[in-house]
Amino acid sequence: MKVTALAGGIGGSRFLRGVQAALPDANITVIGNTGDDITLHGLRICPDLDTVMYTLGGGISAERGWGREDESFVVAEELAAYGVGPAWFGLGDRDLATHLVRTQMLDAGHPLSDVVAALCVRWQPGVRLLPMSDQRVETHVVIEDDQGQRAVHFQEWWLRLRAGVPARSIVALGAERATPAPGVLDALADADVVLLPPSNPVVSIGTILAVPGIRDAVAATSAPVVGVSPIIGGAAVRGMADACLTAIGVETSAQAVGRHYGGRGRVPAAGTATAGLLDGWLVDTVDADTVVPGAAVAARPLLMTDLAETTAIVRAALELAGV
Ligand code: GDP
Ligand code: CA
Repeated sequence: MKVTALAGGIGGSRFLRGVQAALPDANITVIGNTGDDITLHGLRICPDLDTVMYTLGGGISAERGWGREDESFVVAEELAAYGVGPAWFGLGDRDLATHLVRTQMLDAGHPLSDVVAALCVRWQPGVRLLPMSDQRVETHVVIEDDQGQRAVHFQEWWLRLRAGVPARSIVALGAERATPAPGVLDALADADVVLLPPSNPVVSIGTILAVPGIRDAVAATSAPVVGVSPIIGGAAVRGMADACLTAIGVETSAQAVGRHYGGRGRVPAAGTATAGLLDGWLVDTVDADTVVPGAAVAARPLLMTDLAETTAIVRAALELAGV
């Protein structure tokens, strides 16, 4: 069975571990979000790709959910002693080696997809991990504060401001000129099932779908497409996805996110809406009354408390997909 999943960071990675447990023999391709990527201290950092790689490769910090287990922050402390920030971005010593290798390879002219493949030789995540694009796409957030209206990098809004300053808009800079990385469109076209994990619908899944060609490939695949809601009972399980949804005018509810992705069976009003993506939408039991026109809805508890529970969530998604 060929499974293709789109994924952000923590929510996506946890779900992917369940996919691996539910389907140990499957060929799994993961299309990772690179909109969170940032350059700091001259190093190119890809937080979501690394979270997937470390989580599936057994190197993730279980406590934090990002970065490396058994991590130290000596370099960050030394930088701070020089007054060099930003202090709000956690850069561990072990993690730094990944960024050094990646930056050297990128500087030598290798595309990001080759770099990811090279890093995965060490981590053996058990999936084919593809960046959504080899071109740079960076999510920026337009905010208004005492300095007036300005755009900040997504990481500054998310980590320094904790998404506490309302976003006027969220822009995937460079997305319109980007092309899907090699293998991405084929992985969607050739899949037996396409999964949208409970990743952030705006700055993880939404950014991946913003790369021209990817959204259409999801809408057009002959495989069933099933999504899992990151919103339970009107709130994000973790993080500030509500602030992202508000910025794009979508209510923070499982139903609104399902309708935002859209049902594939929905007949769009002439000349208006884009094609829907979902054949199935899995929501939590508390959201069982969700209706998404053109998609089948099923409900079960959606808290990924441990691997067994996450695997059961994946099985329910596969059942909804009919595979
Ligand atoms: P990030 O890049 O690290 O923010 O991770 P993702 O974009 O992959 O996932 C973030 C989303 O995961 C958030 O919107 C959370 O609501 C969602 N999430 C986290 N844990 C759970 C969980 O246990 N169950 C569900 N349904 N969603 C979760
Ligand atoms: Ca992310």
